[in-house]
Amino acid sequence: MNHLPTFDDVVAASERIQGHAHRTPVMTSRTLDEAMGAQVFFKCENFQRMGAFKFRGAFNALSRFSPEQKQAGVVAFSSGNHAQAIALSARLQGIPATIVMPEDAPAAKVAATQGYGADVVFYDRYTEDREQIGRDLAEKHGLTLIPPYDHFDVISGQGTAAKELFEDVGTLDVLFVCLGGGGLLSGSALAARALSPACKIYGVEPEAGNDGQQSFRSGQIVHIDTPKTIADGAQTQHLGQLTFPIIQRDVDDILTASDAELIECMSFMAERMKLVVEPTGCLGLAAARQMKDELKGKRVGVIISGGNVDMVRFAGLLAS
Ligand SMILES: *Cc1c(COP(=O)(O)O)cnc(C)c1O
Repeated sequence: MNHLPTFDDVVAASERIQGHAHRTPVMTSRTLDEAMGAQVFFKCENFQRMGAFKFRGAFNALSRFSPEQKQAGVVAFSSGNHAQAIALSARLQGIPATIVMPEDAPAAKVAATQGYGADVVFYDRYTEDREQIGRDLAEKHGLTLIPPYDHFDVISGQGTAAKELFEDVGTLDVLFVCLGGGGLLSGSALAARALSPACKIYGVEPEAGNDGQQSFRSGQIVHIDTPKTIADGAQTQHLGQLTFPIIQRDVDDILTASDAELIECMSFMAERMKLVVEPTGCLGLAAARQMKDELKGKRVGVIISGGNVDMVRFAGLLAS
């Protein structure tokens, strides 16, 4: 059995990130509350540094490096928010960072990562294995590899968002959390079980990639091909060795949302709440809307995981 993080580790992480990560706002919408017949509290990680909750886990993980690890540096493989989270956290802590990205990664993401001072190493996503490249770099240069979700300190760091939500609004009846590899969901579950024990916790993933739901229901980690969905932050192929047992133990169910539902939620949050939310960040609200009847009169939490979507794509999705 792997050594799993606990709520104490989430508390320790919140002390490490304090003053570095933003304590993001909790927002509400009267229009939505009236339509749902419920009270909905949004934890707005689209306002987190670099635009997503991933800063929390990355900063926490790097804070725990030994002086030798700090000097040698960190390596991560990602084309998305984890890359920027590691790059920014590393710069803030004076640690050299190397990020392995596909050659065809969006130019804006490459530029953002380089802008935070990281070295970007490209690979061909059709012929090369990024995990192998990451591991080779780690071995050759003594770098420490930080994976995007299946890591003790990453999970503990991600749990700090839900911890803040419960501290700010009190106990909840239901909490909806976006699900990719499960770092955010497992960390949130640790916080919920400690601070609001009766709260039901639902992970929400794209309909096209429901490996988490299949895993939860079968009791085994199910692997799938990279799913086709607009929710690019949740295109993971499987849950982790650490995230899965926590999810199995502490989460009530895994739900799914279609791309069309995500676009409706993106549009609602932009128009009514003035929030720019990336497609993956809409998963929680999409599931809450599906469960409208069960949520009547309840106190509902939704974690908005991030807001990194370029404006041309955002406009295109809303117009589709
Ligand atoms: C990474 C990410 C997710 C999924 O998080 P996991 O910890 O992999 O489950 C969801 N939303 C956004 C915006 C992300 O960047």
